[in-house]
Amino acid sequence: MTELVQILRDKRDLPDKGLVELLETDNQSLVEELKECARETAIESFGKEVFLRGLIEWSNVCRNDCLYCGIRCSNANIQRYTLTREQILSCCELAYSSGIRTFVLQGGENPSSAQNLVPVVAEIHASWPDSAITLSLGELPFDLYEKLRIAGADRYLLRHETANPVHYAMLHPITMGQGTRLKCLYQLRELCYQTGMGMMVGSPFQKTEYLVEDIRLIQMFRPEMIGIGPFIPHKDTKFADFPAGSAELTMRLYSILRLMLPKANIPSTTALSSILPDGRIKGILAGANVIMPNFTPPQYRDAYSLYEGKSADPLEEVQKELSAEGYFTRPNRGDYNN
Ligand code: SF4
Repeated sequence: MTELVQILRDKRDLPDKGLVELLETDNQSLVEELKECARETAIESFGKEVFLRGLIEWSNVCRNDCLYCGIRCSNANIQRYTLTREQILSCCELAYSSGIRTFVLQGGENPSSAQNLVPVVAEIHASWPDSAITLSLGELPFDLYEKLRIAGADRYLLRHETANPVHYAMLHPITMGQGTRLKCLYQLRELCYQTGMGMMVGSPFQKTEYLVEDIRLIQMFRPEMIGIGPFIPHKDTKFADFPAGSAELTMRLYSILRLMLPKANIPSTTALSSILPDGRIKGILAGANVIMPNFTPPQYRDAYSLYEGKSADPLEEVQKELSAEGYFTRPNRGDYNN
């Protein structure tokens, strides 16, 4: 085994220079070795089980104006929607009957609407007590995070997007600050949420050294979940003409982070499968262990356009791909288990 991969596997760490080499190398056999080692590590942690999460895109209303995002508040070209309590519960019902035991409620950042979710989260928790609830609703006040946690939410995903403050400022409006994002992550941790962070790969102006900073931030925070996907341009944003991020680099990051944090829940993201036709399974083979089939009512999916060409990850297709590679799914919350 190449020394770099061996050190990463044995020490769960590498100096920055080694990380840069793994991120930038053209040596295909080194890359394959990295992925294989990450795959073996994932199998040591989870066997050949892949955890399923049922994604429910609850609302595309957002108060923010992130420069890369298709549902940013200044985009007047999309129809805004927010699912009703009844619609959310029927999505959960469908997901549950399909064997899903984690519901992921994801939406734009909108504290007043998120407040309305508190009783809905409580109802989901009471109706399906053997299932986990993951939220991804952006930066909210501490007391709202707390209310949602008490209502029954178990996990919260808040991607940091980039660890480099200068880069963060290039991707976000001046009203958003990286300090707030990090403060929220620590608040979520304080409330004992299983917490997720992550970044876009290939976002405009990104450099390899910024990705190394991302890896260091993740290594230091040790999140229970790591959400990483390639940047995909959206026509209604300032970054419409920038190229998409690399699927290959995204998978290398799955592998590196799997070797650093063997038990973390790492999804093979929808964004990856949106730019690479067999991206879902390739992500799993690179060390990811989670897939998120979409249970949003079909009539709203196009309007939840964070980026263009989004894949739906239909459950049957996912299961077929997984079983062809000897992987399986079962009704399981798939909690972080250190
Ligand atoms: S990335 Fe999130 S916070 Fe930013 S505009 Fe899009 S939905 Fe809103």
